[in-house]
Amino acid sequence: MPLKAIVCPHCNKKMLFTITSDDVDLSSGKLPAPLYVKHSSKICQKTTTVYLDSDLRISLMDKGIEDGSKWKFVKFVNSLDDSG
Ligand SMILES: [Zn+2]
Repeated sequence: MPLKAIVCPHCNKKMLFTITSDDVDLSSGKLPAPLYVKHSSKICQKTTTVYLDSDLRISLMDKGIEDGSKWKFVKFVNSLDDSG
């Protein structure tokens, strides 16, 4: 379970989350593929779309929720609770 760290584009605080290859639609051939990450911080609670390549590296980020209809599935994950 790779641990990922990004700076939340909504609150500019670091957030951590873990993913597995099952969290991303790698079968579509359309990469990078989106994953919705909800920031579990008490003051934020907002969702960011991150895009991952086939090695589960984050190559793009977007505020809000991207239209997932191009992909077979887009999962939601919660960031680790930073209690902020
Ligand atoms: Zn945030």
